[in-house]
Amino acid sequence: MTIGVLGGGQLGRMLAEAAGALNLRCKFYDKAADACAGQIAELIVGDWCDEQNLARFAEGCDVITFEWENVPVETARFVERFAPVRPSITALEQTQDRAKEKALFGKLGIPAAPYELVQTEGEFTAALEKLNAPCILKTRRMGYDGKGQMRIDTADDAARLAEFRGKECILEKRVAFDRELSIIAVRGTNGEIAHYNLVENHHSEGILRTTISPAPNVSQTLQSAAESYAKRMLEALNYSGVLAIELFQVGSELLANEFAPRVHNSGHWSIEGAVTSQFENHLRAVCGLPLGSTANRYRCVMTNIIGEDAGVPEPNEKRFVHMYGKQPRPGRKIGHITEIVEPYQ
Ligand code: AMP
Repeated sequence: MTIGVLGGGQLGRMLAEAAGALNLRCKFYDKAADACAGQIAELIVGDWCDEQNLARFAEGCDVITFEWENVPVETARFVERFAPVRPSITALEQTQDRAKEKALFGKLGIPAAPYELVQTEGEFTAALEKLNAPCILKTRRMGYDGKGQMRIDTADDAARLAEFRGKECILEKRVAFDRELSIIAVRGTNGEIAHYNLVENHHSEGILRTTISPAPNVSQTLQSAAESYAKRMLEALNYSGVLAIELFQVGSELLANEFAPRVHNSGHWSIEGAVTSQFENHLRAVCGLPLGSTANRYRCVMTNIIGEDAGVPEPNEKRFVHMYGKQPRPGRKIGHITEIVEPYQ
C-alpha cells in the first residue's frame, strides 16, 4: 500500500521509518524542497493550492494522511478525490481554529480553561473584565510552539495589543496547573480504540523540551478520565489514526488545552519505549490494519534537540538519538533523544 502524507517534516519522516516494517510505502507532499522526509522517501514539492502537483502526489495513493494540522482544508478536499483522507477532514477543520476546538471540547463535556472570543480592543477589555488577569491571548489560527500568544498579566496589558490588532483571537484564563500531561490515543477504521499511558511534558518558551513516559504518580482515575476524553473526541470525529490531547492537571482534575489530529512530539518516546510506536499505530489505523499494543516496554525520557543546541550526545544501548536532517535554527526542533530508564512492569 502507498500512503500519501501531506507535510514532509520530521513527523512524516518518522512515519516513513515505521512504514518499512509493515511493508508500506510513504510518499510526501510539501511546499519546501528541503522538507526532511524527502531525504528518505519520495517528495513532491508544490504549493498547497497547486492542483497539478497535488494530483501527481495523490495518484496511486491508497490512503492520504497529514503530519501537519495547518494543511489547508481545501487541499485535503482536493486530494480526497483520489483516495480517502484519514484521520478526517473535520478533525483538521476543528484543530485549525482554537474557537472551534474549544467549542468541541465544550460540546463533548471535556473541561477546558474558560475563554472568550475577542477581536477588537473593546471585546478584549470586556473579556478581561469577565475572566480577570492573568490570561493568555492566542490567535485563533496558525499558532504553535507558543507562537501567536501573549501573556496578559494585568488589565493594563490592553496597551500591548498592537501586534494582535484585528486578528481573531481567544482570551483564555491562565491555568495555575500542577503539571502538563498528554494522552495519545488511536482509533482504527473498525472503531477499535487504544490509548498510551499518560505522559508528563515540560515546556519552555512554549516549546516542548522533555517528555517523561509514563507520567509519574498517575492514579487510575486520572488515566481513565484522559482516556474517556480521547474516546469522546475519536468517536465524535469518526476518526481513524493517532490523536493527541494536551492537558493541564490541576489537583485531581484534567483540563484540555488543545488537540493534534496527528502523531505528536510527546509520543516520540514510543519508538523505543512502547510495544508499538505511535508512528506504526497511525499507519496501521489509517490503512485499516489491526492496532498494535500501546503498552510501555520501558520507563523512558524523551528530550528534544532544539535549535543550535551544542553537542548531540553519543548513542548507547540505553540512549537512542534521532536526528531529522534539518538545518539548525533558533527554536527549531532538529532531533530528539530517548533515554531508557528501566523496564516497565
Ligand atoms: P499552546 O500553543 O496552546 O499549546 O500553548 C503552549 C504552552 O503555553 C502550553 O503548553 C502551556 O505551557 C502554556 N499555556 C497555554 N495555554 C495556557 C493556559 N490557559 N494557562 C496556562 N498555561 C498555558
